Order: sequence, then C-alpha cells, then structure tokens
Amino acid sequence: MLKPNGNYRNLKESYLFFGISQKVAAYRAEHPEKPLYRLGIGDVSLPLCRAAIQALHSAADDQAKEETFHGYTPECGIPEFRAAVAGYYSRRGVHPDPEEIFVSSGASDELGDILDLFDAGSPALITQPAYPAYVDASVMAGRKTFFLNAGPENDFLPLPGDDTAADLIYLCSPNNPTGAVYSREQLQSWVGYANRHGAVILFDAAYEAFIEGDLPHSIFEIPGAETCAIEICSLSKTAGFTGTRLGYTVIPKALERDGMNLNAMWVRNRTTKTNGISYLLQKAGIAVFSDEGLEQIQENIRIYKQNAQVLMDALDQTGIRYWGGKNAPYIWMACPNGMKSWDFFDLLLNEIQVIGTPGEGFGACGEGYFRLSSFGKPEETKTAAERIRKLLEETK
Ligand code: PLP
Repeated sequence: MLKPNGNYRNLKESYLFFGISQKVAAYRAEHPEKPLYRLGIGDVSLPLCRAAIQALHSAADDQAKEETFHGYTPECGIPEFRAAVAGYYSRRGVHPDPEEIFVSSGASDELGDILDLFDAGSPALITQPAYPAYVDASVMAGRKTFFLNAGPENDFLPLPGDDTAADLIYLCSPNNPTGAVYSREQLQSWVGYANRHGAVILFDAAYEAFIEGDLPHSIFEIPGAETCAIEICSLSKTAGFTGTRLGYTVIPKALERDGMNLNAMWVRNRTTKTNGISYLLQKAGIAVFSDEGLEQIQENIRIYKQNAQVLMDALDQTGIRYWGGKNAPYIWMACPNGMKSWDFFDLLLNEIQVIGTPGEGFGACGEGYFRLSSFGKPEETKTAAERIRKLLEETK
C-alpha cells in the first residue's frame, strides 16, 4: 500500500500566517464595520516600478508575434537575466560568473527545493526566531533540526560556538523577524566555521535591499564564502514582486562536498524539475536590475523605511524595547508587561484593530516578542502607530 510522507505528522499544527488569517477572518465576521490596520504578514503594498511594468508589456507584445515569440526558456535562467543579476552583485565588488546564478520563482520555493541537494540525514541548524519555512521544509524532508537561540544577549545575532554541530546552516540577514543584520566580522566567523566543519550555509538575503551603511548585503562579500555558501534571494521585497514571483539563487562553482559539485548538481536538478521561469518575468527582472530600475525601486523602499520610522517614533514615546526597523522592514518589539505574544496579538486585534505577528510563531524563543511590518500603506501605518502608542501608554 502507498505510504504518505510520515514526516508531515511532525509539523506543527498550523502555519503561522494561516493561524493569523483565521483569527482575523473570525474578527471580521463579527465586526464587519471596523477597519483593520495590517502590520502583520510581510507582503508589500506598493506597485511595481515603471521599468518593470514597461518590460512586462513589451515582453507580452513579443509573445504576440512569430518573430519575437519565446517558448520554453533555459531552465537555469535566460542568459541576459543571469548577467543582469551578476551585474547587480558586481556593484558591491562581488563578481559571480553568470552560470553561478540560477533563476527561481521566489525564495520560498527555492528554500524548500534546494534541500534536494543534501542528504536527509544531514542535520540543519536554524537560528531562532526564524522564518517558519526553514523549519517546516526541513521537517517535511525528515531532516533533524537544531536551533541556536537569538536574543537581546547577542543582539539577535547568534554566532557559532565550539559545541555547535550542523551540516546545513540557515542564516537570514537582514533577519525576518528581528530585523538584525550580521556585520562582516560576524559573517566571517560563520564562514570560517562552515569551511572548517564542511558545513554549507544557506544564506537568505531576501531583505538585502533594505540595508543602509557598510553592512554586507551578500554572504559572498565575505572571503571564503564561495566554498561554503549558497545564497537565496528574490525580487519580492527588493522590487515588490511578491505576487509577480521571481528570484535567484547563487551557487558558486567552487562549492563541493564529498567530491560532488553543488553547482553542477543544481543544473541537473533544474533541468529535470523545471522547464524554466516565464520569459515575461525574467524580462521584468532584467529591467529591475537596469540603472533606471534600480533607481526606481528605491522610491518604494524609501516609503517603507518612512513607515518603519513612524512606528519606531511611536514606540520611542512609550519606552518599550524594540530591535530592527533600520536595515529591515520589520520591527521586533518586546510585548508589554511580560505579556505572551498571542495574547498581545489578541489585544491589538480586539482593542485597536491592528494586526501584527506574534513572536512565538517564529519559534519558542520568540515568545514575549511581537513583529510589526513596515510594508503597509503610509496613512494606515500612521494610524496604526498612533493606536499602538496610545494602547501601550494605557497598559503601562
Ligand atoms: N525569506 C524570508 C526571510 C522571507 O521573509 C520571505 C517572505 O516573506 C521569503 C524568504 C519568501 O520570499 P519569496 O516571496 O521570494 O518567496
């Protein structure tokens, strides 16, 4: 008899954002007259930049004519797209070969798929609190997972110790949910650890475009990373592609384990398991990485950063502790009066109709914290910030 994948029995009952949406739907059904202020799920609210839209229109026109029509695209990416991403990296002094860049339909998809490269018996280390997909994808694959806790004591940036044991290491910087960003020195210690132990770092750079100042955007800015790291990124937060779907993964040709080349293995994987990513989307991606596109995407990022400032200003007035907000679209705040994070979620929803994300949903050590997102509309964010400020003053 066919047996389903029993690892699914080990998953936690409901995915974080599904749980939130159920609570919100129930509230909505009871109070249809009350407007809601969404600072919860990390989806963007502003449209694509002009360069991307023009490219999408023109690529659609290409598909209308026999002379310019495109069928399947190369599985690992259109060469022009791979070159455009390589060009984006070179702006930071990182010079990947375009063949080290693989197009994807987004970081989430890739974070699960990439596990195909590794034996299920190789354990994963996940710094927590963490984006829930890391844990769930590992559990589905039957992989043992260990956690390294982040907290105020390490500024939410845990580092490897002598007793750290892991084959696969998930790092996310800027971090979702804490907004913390690793410095060069800190990433160097992870790279050193991975090279010494034969581990591989899966570096999630989904929020790199929010970094200000001299902090690394890519693990490949760190010497030695090309022999121990894979970087997964997407245009979701860089350019508002959450609903458009486009990403990229960097696997250096120098990355080998046990005599096997991971870049070559991923070529084999992609050419088997995908038939490429839409021609239209890759054209839009190429436009995003043009000079014009890169300038235009800053317009939205600037607005999200202003939202983060509005939220931080409100929290500053209450004296509550928080992290992030500067180099990331997330603010990670301590719940007031030692409150549990789902209780604080309920309080915000029921009393002021603001929806945030309970820290506990990002792992046990997220208990007592709460994530606010700056991806909302400015007017809504202002109202939500003022409501939060007032509520926190009242609950002091
Ligand atoms: N990685 C992190 C840390 C994220 O927060 C998200 C989305 O919120 C993703 C990956 C997924 O991005 P994508 O839209 O490219 O699937």
